[in-house]
Amino acid sequence: MIKKYFIPETIEEAISLKNQHKETGKYLAGGTILNLSFNKKKYEVYIDLRKLNLDEIKKNEKGNLEIGACVTFQKLISSEIIPEQLKKAAMLMENRNIRNMATIGGNIVGGKTVGDLIPTLIVLEAMVKVYGEEKLVLVEEYILRKDERFIEKIIIEEKNLEKLYGVRAHSRTSDDLSLIGAAVTYNKDQEKIKDIRIAVGGVASTVIRLKDIEKELEGTILEKQLLTHLIRNYVEPLTDFRGSKEFKAYLAGELVAECFEIA
Ligand SMILES: Cc1cc2nc3c(=O)[nH]c(=O)nc-3n(C[C@H](O)[C@H](O)[C@H](O)COP(=O)(O)OP(=O)(O)OC[C@H]3O[C@@H](n4cnc5c(N)ncnc54)[C@H](O)[C@@H]3O)c2cc1C
Repeated sequence: MIKKYFIPETIEEAISLKNQHKETGKYLAGGTILNLSFNKKKYEVYIDLRKLNLDEIKKNEKGNLEIGACVTFQKLISSEIIPEQLKKAAMLMENRNIRNMATIGGNIVGGKTVGDLIPTLIVLEAMVKVYGEEKLVLVEEYILRKDERFIEKIIIEEKNLEKLYGVRAHSRTSDDLSLIGAAVTYNKDQEKIKDIRIAVGGVASTVIRLKDIEKELEGTILEKQLLTHLIRNYVEPLTDFRGSKEFKAYLAGELVAECFEIA
């Protein structure tokens, strides 16, 4: 049960509060995960990030995109400098009420396999700026490590935004979490595809990058049948109330193929 609620004025203060309360304390951004009743029972201290000015979107002097950790999904969609693929990914979030609250930082730290921004952030090789650390961490690594260090902002290099891209997801209804999500980026050399990145959500406990398939396709001319066959045989989703493992594997193949077609 929540016993203490802090609204710090600086990041240093937020981190110091977190260090004092360790596992019982949580940073609170949009609260769409933390304010679920079972989470409110789990923690004792919330450290609200609203006063930390982490909701800016800008291009830095190198032309790279910088997105504050507390930027909401809706703000991404409304921004003039956010590229189309990230807007499309943000639009996959099930409804506007949640989009108005949910933040990009919370989506990454939540690390859910059906997190709608995560496949796109991974294929764009987006990086996390952890407060106080010089070295940037790939979103992919941050999630795999189940890192929970304070995210200040997310950085996407301009060269990755210039690649061809596709984003797709399937949900059972228009107001539900995605069952499977997929995103790809690549460059084209004549008819051959290269620098391929493929990420899929809903087929493992976190969103995963399909590195073996990326390698197999590198420098080839894309064939849809081969691609869907490779993916169906590679991913190992679990059967649950949203769908059987066979259906999810089939869907993963089709959605990745659609991403390439869209691109
Ligand atoms: C009804 C409902 C529908 C949903 N639908 C979707 C959907 O369609 N698609 C989707 O992707 N997700 C969905 N979600 C999940 C959730 O909304 C998202 O994952 C959202 O992006 C979480 O962001 P938040 O700001 O609300 O996180 P919060 O709940 O505030 O925090 C989540 C986690 O992130 C940590 N955190 C937040 N900011 C930082 C930071 N700067 N540094 C370090 N740690 C931080 C918190 O401590 C906490 O552990 C849904 C959730 C609900 C309740």
